[in-house]
Amino acid sequence: MNTQDFIVREAMVAPPTYTPLPVVLHEGKGSWVWDIEGNKYLDMMTAYSAVSFGHSHPRLVKALTDQAQTLALTSRAFYTDQLAPFLEKACALSGFDMGIPMNSGAEAVETALKVARRWGYEVKGIPQNQAEIIVAENNFHGRTTTLISFSTEPIYQKDFGPLTPGFKAIPFGNAQALEKAITPNTCAFLVEPIQGEAGIIVPPPGWLKEVRDICSKHNVLLILDEVQSGLGRTGRIFAFQHENIMPDGLILAKALGGGLVPISLFLSRKDILSLMTPGSHGSTFGGNPLACAVAQEALSLLQEEHLDQRSEELGAYMMKELQNIDSSFIKEVRGKGLWIGVDFNKNLVNGWEVCERMRFKGALTKDTHETVVRFAPPLTITKEEIDYGLKAFKDTLFEIEQCSGIP
Ligand SMILES: *Cc1c(COP(=O)(O)O)cnc(C)c1O
Repeated sequence: MNTQDFIVREAMVAPPTYTPLPVVLHEGKGSWVWDIEGNKYLDMMTAYSAVSFGHSHPRLVKALTDQAQTLALTSRAFYTDQLAPFLEKACALSGFDMGIPMNSGAEAVETALKVARRWGYEVKGIPQNQAEIIVAENNFHGRTTTLISFSTEPIYQKDFGPLTPGFKAIPFGNAQALEKAITPNTCAFLVEPIQGEAGIIVPPPGWLKEVRDICSKHNVLLILDEVQSGLGRTGRIFAFQHENIMPDGLILAKALGGGLVPISLFLSRKDILSLMTPGSHGSTFGGNPLACAVAQEALSLLQEEHLDQRSEELGAYMMKELQNIDSSFIKEVRGKGLWIGVDFNKNLVNGWEVCERMRFKGALTKDTHETVVRFAPPLTITKEEIDYGLKAFKDTLFEIEQCSGIP
């Protein structure tokens, strides 16, 4: 079987919801992946930041295999010896009291929305079915019918209606717009501290602090979706720590599973989460001992290896190197920590084409919205590996410039 065979076979049995680069991956170790033809690539995209610890980190694989041989799944019809230790660790790390474990990022966002609405009715006193949740334009929170209902991206919604009511979108990074949009029926503001899928959009400094003050003033819950920005990615364990604020709720997923298992979490305070009663929420796989064991080890690894600091230091280096590239193709380089987007001039070059060419130079990444090429390598990456990736990127730009004749 060669590359083309797998691509054709997949097209026969999987509808084209993605447009992958034409590589068929077979193996991964640390910062590297190999395709079925034996080509080796630096992974600069890490499954949208879910592989922050690198591929098959030995400590995480050990936690996985040990737990798999002990107890993997019980449902929460019974207690296990893995859930409490995992939640205690996540609470200690984040400063929250309690958490609801789920599986995907989207499910944890859905959990947050349910909790926020319940709080709105039972604590804030919003009339039944009137609760409003404010979100940001160009948000990405996942793909369920409710989550796409408040997306502002037409292709996420097309022909999936009727959509869920109760949401209002305001411009990202604009605190005044938030204050204006709040009504007595507003229960929460749900937002990414840095917008990931929108193209790694960094808000103005001080915005999150203002948002915190506005939410407190109007008795509105501030819920941060740190599914992608959390767990060291931006140079802090959580992105909200850049502005020394504390949200009312926090959504984690992606890297939480150590790149090995799906697990997500909605964390909040006791006064909010204790409104959830038996039967109000659940998930068969949510909080399963296998995922909890891996996630607990992932959180330990993050702390013990100071991966947030690595992300800050290596991210600053990578940012500087990218900003020093002199190319008329590049409009802007932005990001925080090891999470950087290179925004290209739309009419000159296509982000997908950059990624497509870069794979021949031994580095894999993916564009968002065709103009932004993202770099989100493992937080365990070395400086030498970053240099390898930077060279692949620079060589690719040079090659495209040669082809296009634009200096
Ligand atoms: C990826 C992502 C999600 C959705 O996570 P899934 O596990 O794909 O459901 C939600 N929010 C943000 C910010 C994300 O980046």
